[in-house]
Amino acid sequence: MDNNESLLKNVQYLKGVGPRRFALLKRLGIQTIYDLLYYFPRDYQDRSNILNISNIPVNTVATVKGRVIDINSYYARSGKHVLEVYLNDNTGTVQGIWFNQPFLKKKFHVGDEFIFYGRVRFYKCLQIANPEFELITDDPLMNEGIVPIYPLTEYLTQALFRNLTKNAVDEYVGSVKEMLDEEFLAKRQLCSVTDALKNIHFPESLEHLKMARRRLSYDEFFLLEVAMALRRRGIKEGTGYAFKIGQNVESHILRLFPFSLTNGQKWVIGEIRDDMRSEKPMNRLLQGDVGSGKTAVAIYALLAAIANGFQTALMAPTEILAEQHYQTLLRYLSHARVKILLLTGGSPTAMRKENIGKINHGEIDLVVGTHALIMKDVKFKKLGLVVVDEQHKFGVIQRANLRMKGCRPDVLVMTATPIPRTLSLTIFGDLDISILNEIPPGRTPVETRLHSEKHLAEAYEFIRNELNQGRQAFVIYPLVKESEKLDLKSATEGAKKLQDIVFPKFKVGLLHGQMKQQDKDRIMKDFRERRYDILVSTIVIEVGIDVPNATIMVIEHAERFGLAQLHQLRGRIGRGPHKSYCLLFGNPRTPEARKRLQIMTQTNDGFRIAEEDLQIRGPGEFFGTRQHGLPELKIGDLIGDYPLLKLARDDAFSIVKNDGRLEQEKNRFIKETVIERFKGRLNLISIG
Ligand code: ADP
Ligand code: MG
Repeated sequence: MDNNESLLKNVQYLKGVGPRRFALLKRLGIQTIYDLLYYFPRDYQDRSNILNISNIPVNTVATVKGRVIDINSYYARSGKHVLEVYLNDNTGTVQGIWFNQPFLKKKFHVGDEFIFYGRVRFYKCLQIANPEFELITDDPLMNEGIVPIYPLTEYLTQALFRNLTKNAVDEYVGSVKEMLDEEFLAKRQLCSVTDALKNIHFPESLEHLKMARRRLSYDEFFLLEVAMALRRRGIKEGTGYAFKIGQNVESHILRLFPFSLTNGQKWVIGEIRDDMRSEKPMNRLLQGDVGSGKTAVAIYALLAAIANGFQTALMAPTEILAEQHYQTLLRYLSHARVKILLLTGGSPTAMRKENIGKINHGEIDLVVGTHALIMKDVKFKKLGLVVVDEQHKFGVIQRANLRMKGCRPDVLVMTATPIPRTLSLTIFGDLDISILNEIPPGRTPVETRLHSEKHLAEAYEFIRNELNQGRQAFVIYPLVKESEKLDLKSATEGAKKLQDIVFPKFKVGLLHGQMKQQDKDRIMKDFRERRYDILVSTIVIEVGIDVPNATIMVIEHAERFGLAQLHQLRGRIGRGPHKSYCLLFGNPRTPEARKRLQIMTQTNDGFRIAEEDLQIRGPGEFFGTRQHGLPELKIGDLIGDYPLLKLARDDAFSIVKNDGRLEQEKNRFIKETVIERFKGRLNLISIG
């Protein structure tokens, strides 16, 4: 295979890389020459136009060059170590200053020529605190033009690393294979991969750098989207069930709801109906903000499948939610002849065995449970449709596992976390998407207020007033980790204080993540049945709990929650006919935290909140963990490069549409690259 073979050689083939440096490079994830070529600078310094020190405007970021004329290293009275290095360029002197890094001193010698880079300010003299610095040698690489700055570890210098990449580029960039043909590149105004790699490391000009970034970002998006397209094709290719859904079935189902559907629900149900009637398996994501009425949509799909003689399953992320869904379904379906079963992990074994037997024999129409239900020992006789209520947990991998069970049921995934459009093109890029963004009538939006601790007494008064009118309240404390004793204590103590001192007349319950499942379930049930007026809780109630009589939510230390979490928490109120209030108490110390809380007071729109959240946190954090299958992007910026992402996606999908297995000669190298890059990561179903 000619897959860039010479590039897959160990970096030790490069001049200047021995075993010791190899070990350092390895720490940066660089093992092959290819890795080095694709290790991109984090920044650039324009050294083509270095100002005289005497001309540098104060308070700008600048590159200066001069000789060391003095070094001053001492301990300040505070005990801090201070290192001052003075650079002079015959027009003036600038001071570089470092604190508590005494080891840096040995890098500087009077008479050496250095470059400093950083924000210049005036404090007794011209000064740059913590500048980037670099010893000037006669190496022209570092003195001229736009110079790359790499993310490095302590023992590798920029100069050394730059020489390595220079060698790699000079010797090997010509061997990098072009994945896209010339005509295509021209049409998309993309430069060649060779030019891109040259210029990402050693840009000829800022314009060239821009082109290089564009090409390399495009490649990242394109490969990711090809993977998505292949996965989607793998799913859609198989034949599933073509359900028959006629007028009769439909009106029968709609009669079960105590309300008429919103236009949003009707529209989404239409999309689902089309999918179900088609013999291609449904693979749809339903995004609907909290309270938008997804349950009714799910029930429609479940009953339509059951009417066709199939079994169905509804999976929830937690046992509490599974139980709640089960109760809801029993209520809606009390007049329907549907055999429902709740399968929990906690049921006694004998009963569980019996239940599993019933499912296996096809005696049950609808099984409700957690994800475990589908994963493990449960075998269906004729499973036709699965609804996955993921709430805010994204489970790309699990969805794939489900399909591996051998059957090809239709799958409807529901999520209450609106997904920003750039992410719905990537992580959920293989799904069809339905959006439910209309809230059922008759509800007033939750009013959200931001308070400082000083107003606690007023807030308590306000709450007391609501409780006296028969309403209920949630009080939430942050609990970063369930095992963290400190935070756990604050919820526990909070409950005690509220009960003993603030609200002695009312009943206060406590719920947290360290309680046993049965206890949690019991407390929730008691709260729902109004045996408690106030429920003090941690984040465990974030997901899906439905208590329409609760109209108050107090969130303590609100600055410690993410936007998505706050929005989910707030979604627990405003579910009934009474006006609801969310009171955020917090002490935001960073501008970012302040912004988060302000957004909460400005909007109830989950889509807007999700976009803001993504902006603030960036895609990596937005997802929280890596295992969601979103590959790390080295250069592509999911937020900033949306148009390019969209373009790459359209291109990728059209290529896979025309050549479903990427077997044509011109697509072979694309396929190899995708497989190489996403090996074992994205469940590329039957790619080869
Ligand atoms: P979510 O999308 O958060 O799962 P639910 O399905 O739990 O929302 O619905 C929230 C509430 O709205 C429920 O109490 C439900 O009975 C009610 N509801 C759903 N659809 C309608 C509708 N079309 N008209 C009036 N109320 C509705
Ligand atoms: Mg729900």
